[in-house]
Amino acid sequence: MGYVNGLKCKECGEKYDKLPIHVCELCFGPLEVDYDYEKIKEVVTKDSIEKGPPSIWRYKDLLPLDEEPKVGFHCGYTPLVKAENLGKELGLKNLYIKNDSVNHPTFSFKDRVVAIAVSKALEFGFDTVSCASTGNLANSVAAHAAEAGLKSYIFIPEDLEAGKIMGTLIYGAKLIRVKGSYDDVNRLCSEIGEGHKWAFVNINIRAYYGDGSKSYGYEIAEQLGWRTPDNVVVPVAGSSLITKIWKAFHEFEMLGLVDKVQTKVFAAQATGCSPVTTAIKAGEEFFKPVKPNTIAKSIAIGNPADGIYGIKTAKISGGYGEDVSDEEVVAGMKLLARTEGIFTETAGGVTVGVTKKLVEQGRIKPDETTVICITGNGLKTLEAINGTFPETDLIEPRLSSFEEKFSNNILV
Ligand SMILES: *Cc1c(COP(=O)(O)O)cnc(C)c1O
Ligand SMILES: [Zn+2]
Repeated sequence: MGYVNGLKCKECGEKYDKLPIHVCELCFGPLEVDYDYEKIKEVVTKDSIEKGPPSIWRYKDLLPLDEEPKVGFHCGYTPLVKAENLGKELGLKNLYIKNDSVNHPTFSFKDRVVAIAVSKALEFGFDTVSCASTGNLANSVAAHAAEAGLKSYIFIPEDLEAGKIMGTLIYGAKLIRVKGSYDDVNRLCSEIGEGHKWAFVNINIRAYYGDGSKSYGYEIAEQLGWRTPDNVVVPVAGSSLITKIWKAFHEFEMLGLVDKVQTKVFAAQATGCSPVTTAIKAGEEFFKPVKPNTIAKSIAIGNPADGIYGIKTAKISGGYGEDVSDEEVVAGMKLLARTEGIFTETAGGVTVGVTKKLVEQGRIKPDETTVICITGNGLKTLEAINGTFPETDLIEPRLSSFEEKFSNNILV
C-alpha cells in the first residue's frame, strides 16, 4: 500500500526521500508529504471509502503510511452532531459540531495525528517517541506509545492542568516539565533531537504527523453527505489543523468526491494567545510571536510553527479570525454543555465563543451551513470551571430534609 512519493518543500518545491526530516535544506521551509494523486484517483471513490472501517483508516490511501497501520484502529469517525439547540441560541439554522471530545483513545483530535506519527515511527524503526506538548498531544503520544510498545519522553510547560499530567503519567510515559511556555519547550526539544535518535512526533516526523489532521476534514465532508460546509470554525494553536482541514476539502474536490469548495475557514484563538487571529484582523501576512497568558492552555502557542499558513488559509478561503477572553471561554464551555450536552475543554470554549462573535459581526449568516470544531474534552480542564458554580446542596438522608430544600426552591 501507500501512495507517497516522498517529501516536498512547501516553499521551494525541492523534493526529498521519505525520511524523518522536516526542514528544507535549501530554504528552511517546512516539508510536506508528496502524494501520487494520479494513482490515488484510480483507487479512491465514495464507495471505496464507505466500505472502509469506521475510523481514520477508511482514508488510508490519503494518509502517509507505506505499511499497514500499527496503532489507532479505533481513532476517528467521531460524531458530526446537528446542533439544533445551540443553533437556536446563536441564530444559526444549520449548525453542526464535529465532536472530537470523544475521540479514541485520549479524547482529543490529537489521536488522529498521533495514530499516524506512531505508525510512521515504527516504520522508520524508532524505539522511542517524544514530543513537545500543550497537553493533549502528551496524553495521546503516551497512550499510543504504550499500545505500540515504544518508550516515550514527553515535554510540557510547567503549568498544565492535572488532567493533562495524570492523563500522561498513567500510560507509563516519562514526563518532563520545563520551566517556561510551550515555545520554550519546543525549542528545547529541537536541541534534544540533535543528540537523541527519537521520533519527535511534531518535530522530525511533523510532515507525516500533520496529515493525520486531514482525516478530521474528510469526515466533516463525508458526514455532511459528501459536501463541504459554508463555514468552519477551527481552534488554532500551531495552525496545523486549520490548514489540513482546508487541504482535505480540496483533495476531495480534486478527486471528484465533493463539488467546488467554497468553505470559509475561520481561526479561533484566546485573546491571551492570539498571534494568528491578531494578524488576520490586522490584514497582515505574518504574525508577531507572543507570550501566552490564557486558560486555554492546549492552544497556547505563542510562536506557531505553521502560523503563516494558518493566516493564509483564513484569507484565501474568504474567512477571518477572532479571539475571546478567558471569561468568554468559560461561557462558551457552559453554553455548549447546557444546549447540546457536550462537555468540551477550554479550546472548545474558544471555538464556541468565537463563533458567537462571528455571527454577531455578520460574518457567519443564519442560513449557511456552519461546522464548529470541538477538539478536546472538558474533563481534562476542570480547573477552568472550578469555583464558577454555586456550592452544591448537601442534605440529610431523609425525605424531610430533601422536601425542605425542595420547597425552598433551592433544588429547583
Ligand atoms: C492541539 C490542539 C488544537 C490545535 O492544534 P494545531 O493543529 O496545533 O493548530 C486545537 N484544539 C485542541 C484541543 C488541541 O489540543
Ligand atoms: Zn525549500
